[in-house]
Amino acid sequence: ARPKVVIVGGGAGGASVLRRLVERGNDALDIILVEPQATYTSCFYSNLFLGGFQPLDVLRHDYGAIAKLPGVTLARDAARAVDLAQRRVTLAGGSVLSYDRLVLSPGIDLDYGSVPGWSREAEERMPHAWKAGRQTEILKRQLDAVPDGGLILVIAPPDPYRCPPGPYERVSMMAHALTATGRSRARIVILDPKDRFSKQPLFQQGWEKHYPGMIEWMPPAIHAGIQTVDPSSMTVETGFETYRNADLVNVIPRQTAGRIAIEAGLAGDHLYCPIDPLTMQSRADPAVFVLGDAAIAGDMPKSAFAANSQAQRVAAIIGHELLGGTDGEAAYLNRCWSLIAANDSVFVGGAYRPGPDKIEQVASDISTLEDSAATRRANYEDSAGWYAGLTLDMFG
Ligand code: FAD
Repeated sequence: ARPKVVIVGGGAGGASVLRRLVERGNDALDIILVEPQATYTSCFYSNLFLGGFQPLDVLRHDYGAIAKLPGVTLARDAARAVDLAQRRVTLAGGSVLSYDRLVLSPGIDLDYGSVPGWSREAEERMPHAWKAGRQTEILKRQLDAVPDGGLILVIAPPDPYRCPPGPYERVSMMAHALTATGRSRARIVILDPKDRFSKQPLFQQGWEKHYPGMIEWMPPAIHAGIQTVDPSSMTVETGFETYRNADLVNVIPRQTAGRIAIEAGLAGDHLYCPIDPLTMQSRADPAVFVLGDAAIAGDMPKSAFAANSQAQRVAAIIGHELLGGTDGEAAYLNRCWSLIAANDSVFVGGAYRPGPDKIEQVASDISTLEDSAATRRANYEDSAGWYAGLTLDMFG
């Protein structure tokens, strides 16, 4: 029988591994993709939908082309349990899949208890939109309804979380949408549990330039902590001030690895999964590979770019172990763009290598405060090319 690879999660990590394995194995492997959603809505680029720069359709991708790839079977179901000893995955529908190698890229889960007063039930009124789909649409509808002079509160997440610059790009896109529709007297307050954030000087310069006076960022020393939120009255109480009748409250809570990875017993610090930096194998079981947001990837941020880069490595190791041939060299990359305003995009990037204990950054690159308008515009074009290329690679 052909060696069997089960991939749990058809997102940036899982779909990219699948592609690389099909290229390498070309029918020599029996690959099963376990994914409950018929349509994947990408979080990446979802802020641009919020800002009015992209239609929702651009974010949505289906698995039709993947299902037709040689050696691939699609299981439209969620993985419910993993038996590491028996090398078996049980699906919610009851079927049991055995594997020679298991790839887990389930993304994140949200810690609903991490913001007092907020809950899964409250996510309709105070959306997170940190998993894309229905939540993204709710957030957009609420943003469209904010009046001129209205108040938006964004509760930012603690580290480590999916997409470090994401909350700040989101705020930029909210400010753009408000300004472009004659609502520049609206106010956005970011209540942050962190003392600093990704690309902070670039964002703050951009906010001053494009949206003067509209965005206020508060670190914990100023807001003194979130005491409680009340979705029924749209109130947020901090140690410093109580905001009542907010027009929009975007709660981005603490995050962990996707539940299936935790329940499989693969999680460590902060409920993310330790991996071997050379191979992306779980520290708990070398037959299991964890990548993307669920993994502790050392200096690499949790991004779709990073997940796609890690996927090359996962596929190289699995191919080497199951089909023979070389396992190549471990080298990882990341690049994250953030759109601040029309044609004003900034990036941060890095190159990474496996160190003794973790994936270590060996080179970095970041936009500067002095960039020309042409550079910022070219960054935007690069980001559009990246989005098109990545989603083609995953779903094409
Ligand atoms: P995902 O892409 O979320 O895929 C996980 C998949 O697993 C999902 O399809 C889910 O349905 C499935 N799944 C979960 N549990 C199970 C289960 N039990 N059984 C089966 N399937 C399961 N990254 C960038 O590189 N650039 C950006 O510009 C960028 N912008 C972002 C903006 C925002 C607002 C957000 C929130 C994120 C952004 N990201 C960006 C981050 C990016 O979305 C994630 O890092 C990336 O999607 C991680 O890939 P993943 O495979 O780990 O998880």
